Amino acid sequence: MRILLIEDEPEMASVLKTALQRQDIIVDQVSTLADAEMMAKVGSYDAVVLDRRLPDGEGLSLIPRLRALHVDAPVLALTAMGGLDDRISGLNAGADDYMVKPFATEELVARLRALHRRQFTLRAEHTMIGRLTYDFRHREALVGDQTLDLPRRERLVLETLIRRPGRAVMRGTLEEAVYALDDEIGSNALDAHISRLRRKLEDVAAGIEIRAIRNIGYLLRAIP
Ligand code: CA
Repeated sequence: MRILLIEDEPEMASVLKTALQRQDIIVDQVSTLADAEMMAKVGSYDAVVLDRRLPDGEGLSLIPRLRALHVDAPVLALTAMGGLDDRISGLNAGADDYMVKPFATEELVARLRALHRRQFTLRAEHTMIGRLTYDFRHREALVGDQTLDLPRRERLVLETLIRRPGRAVMRGTLEEAVYALDDEIGSNALDAHISRLRRKLEDVAAGIEIRAIRNIGYLLRAIP
């Protein structure tokens, strides 16, 4: 899951970012409405976390602009303004959910996951390829009754490939799924995750292979 966090207070931004990343959520953080709009145009996000008091205006004013750009990610508004009127105006402005500061980051994570699930209720919760079952809800890869032990980035690579079985997935798409904007990415970091993932899949005889497609990216499929 990848989110756009729009929060201008550095300390709050950093606390949120760390908490979300610990939950395997990729976070791109900006501090202004102008930057948020620019990021929303180029990035693809599963949710937007939006502070209301921002240096260049009221956070809620971003929502109609996002919708005009056909960004349909759910928006969770964050605010120190906790009065009933403020909450109602937030929801009326098109926010999908609302949290009043201070709040527990665990609750924020739970709400983001709920918003994300609601948006993809029609998406299958499991997929099976070869002998491997991937459970999107619990984010687990199983072969037989054995759970694969995958660190965050390997799991995100697998998740991204497994959503498009038999189709080449662009290198850029995989990198976008795995890294936040300000992560430093070594030129062969993705390949290193892929080769570790391959080895693990082979060790449990998962019956799937990840093929490199030259100049494009990678493709996951059942071994014929
Ligand atoms: Ca603020």
